[in-house]
Amino acid sequence: MAEVRELTCINCPLGCALTVTIDGNAVTVAGNTCPRGEAYGKKEVTDPTRIVTSTVPVSDGDIARVPVKTAADIPKGRIFAVMEEIHRVHAKAPVAIGDVLLHDAAGTGVDIVAARDVAVRKA
Ligand code: SF4
Repeated sequence: MAEVRELTCINCPLGCALTVTIDGNAVTVAGNTCPRGEAYGKKEVTDPTRIVTSTVPVSDGDIARVPVKTAADIPKGRIFAVMEEIHRVHAKAPVAIGDVLLHDAAGTGVDIVAARDVAVRKA
């Protein structure tokens, strides 16, 4: 028997309401306005992934915390483990956007990178 899931496409502000039908190996998507919605609906029911964002403390910086993100999508089921590892990271200024602050977060093969520059705090 087919399983039907209702999702909201998160790829643009339109937020189309998607109806995804899973029937054996066949996945069909309805309600999408553009092809990105179909791709999102199919991926969400077969291999859901997310970019994870957070902040980590930074020593000697002109701001106290630096925003960070995963360098690529990670499996949705690994978000909690990745967040736990991010919470143990402490950076030191200067930090440049794209600097790797944590390699291979929670064994996902994906690095955690800085999302902005942080200069050294002036004395
Ligand atoms: S299906 Fe297309 S138009 Fe609709 S929310 Fe997704 S990206 Fe936007």
